Amino acid sequence: MKNIRLETLTYTKKILIKIGSAVLTGTNGLDLKIVDALVTEMCELVRRGYSVVLVTSGAIASGKHRLNITGKLKSIPEKQAAAAVGQGRLMRVYSKSFEKNGLYVAQILLTLSDLTDRQRFLNIRNTLSTLMEWKVIPVINENDSVAVDEIKFGDNDNLAAMIANIVEADLFINLTNIAGLYDCNPAESKKAKFIPLVSEFTDEIEAIATAETSSVGTGGMKSKVLAAKKVTAIGIPCIIAPGKKKNVLTDILAGKEIGTLFLPMADRLNSKKYWIAFTLRSQGKLVVDDGARKALLEKGKSLLPSGITAVEGDFAVGDPVSCVDGNGTPIAKGLVNFSSAEIRKIMGLKTAKIEQILGHKDYAEVIHRDNLAITKQNTRRKI
Ligand code: GLU
Repeated sequence: MKNIRLETLTYTKKILIKIGSAVLTGTNGLDLKIVDALVTEMCELVRRGYSVVLVTSGAIASGKHRLNITGKLKSIPEKQAAAAVGQGRLMRVYSKSFEKNGLYVAQILLTLSDLTDRQRFLNIRNTLSTLMEWKVIPVINENDSVAVDEIKFGDNDNLAAMIANIVEADLFINLTNIAGLYDCNPAESKKAKFIPLVSEFTDEIEAIATAETSSVGTGGMKSKVLAAKKVTAIGIPCIIAPGKKKNVLTDILAGKEIGTLFLPMADRLNSKKYWIAFTLRSQGKLVVDDGARKALLEKGKSLLPSGITAVEGDFAVGDPVSCVDGNGTPIAKGLVNFSSAEIRKIMGLKTAKIEQILGHKDYAEVIHRDNLAITKQNTRRKI
């Protein structure tokens, strides 16, 4: 019988590993034994020829512990201040542990605005690929102390998914404090059934994960499943696995049944389309008719004015905008060639009318297919 895990991992070289706060912290702050165990495994993977990029939480939890703060931090400034205390400690612990194994680490702290700006996105990509060439381990976290709501990734699962795209990882391993995905919350029901493999990204899969978190984590299983959705959309398999399990990383790469494996989807979104779909925030909506829906989803066409039935929001040329069908279901996201005011004037009309109405026709399409990412996609690669 085929081992679907081994087959999925056949060409794996670059691995993005995300470690959650609940894995790294115990009652006494950062759990140095866990850090050492995971770092030793990561170093072994590097020795075996894999590239490893690490996204790690734990700054806030570590800062809280240093400051003897018990219970949840309430305000954003408190969390930001705790992160500022804990981030240095987190890096010191990692750097000591990696150096024991002969490897150096590089700290990278990011906010969402660093990635929504295409130039900065490309700069970060260059830095990361240089570090990987040098066999230095990038240790990435959100720049919590400066991030405010509009520029926050929200949680490190989301950040890790974006980094997986930037480094074009072959595998995303998301280490957490439970065994993987269950069909309902195992903390609430003894009947919860473990799901070892997700081969179709159905609405049910999305719906079963809840946002409940541990006392130190941020996103809960929901954000892990959403991160899995994002990376599998660009063809990267994802494994949500228990970070405290002995030899977890080595066993995953040996194809052992650990955690939940999410298979990659059939169509790989290229890096630019992924950036449009998952990094940029939508500035408005275009409602499209059935014909346009089909043209986008089934034929890979550009969006023309004739297929648009309504425009929501105010946006400018070049802004990211969502396309939704008549039921309001999001199907795609793209960069528009016309402003919202212009689209309101030309929607429903044939392309030939654009010039007559607007007095110019720089583009025939409202969104060119090269700048259009399909976000509604459930089919996965059959292995
Ligand atoms: N960036 C936060 C930290 O390092 C964690 C965010 C999360 O848990 O997702 O403490």
